[in-house]
Amino acid sequence: MDRRPNPAAGTDPLLQLTAVPSLPTGPGVTRHLSHPQELTLRGIPVMCSVCRARRDWLLINHGRNVWVICRCGNQWLEPEITRADFDALIFFPDGTVYPSLDQALAALGFDGTFAGTYLN
Ligand SMILES: [Zn+2]
Repeated sequence: MDRRPNPAAGTDPLLQLTAVPSLPTGPGVTRHLSHPQELTLRGIPVMCSVCRARRDWLLINHGRNVWVICRCGNQWLEPEITRADFDALIFFPDGTVYPSLDQALAALGFDGTFAGTYLN
């Protein structure tokens, strides 16, 4: 089951070649946010069900949905986090735009390479 958001870029290679990266805005974009601290939802710290990590998350927002991604590559839709929560969490948006979610995960070290590791 693929629970990941669909990147806005689509699959047309010509479109991707000509697309000029710009800071994502609007409801259709996919945004990411590093969250090195523990994440507490309703008083309960978030824990990865696969590797039992308790911090150093990547949060992905697409539309009204927010996914939590662990260093081990585990990811899940987190209904407790709303888009407004996500907006409030963005302290230092780095403005980096990646052509696809997979490339973002690899670049940020959330593709499973650092499973079992806290980098922050
Ligand atoms: Zn994990």
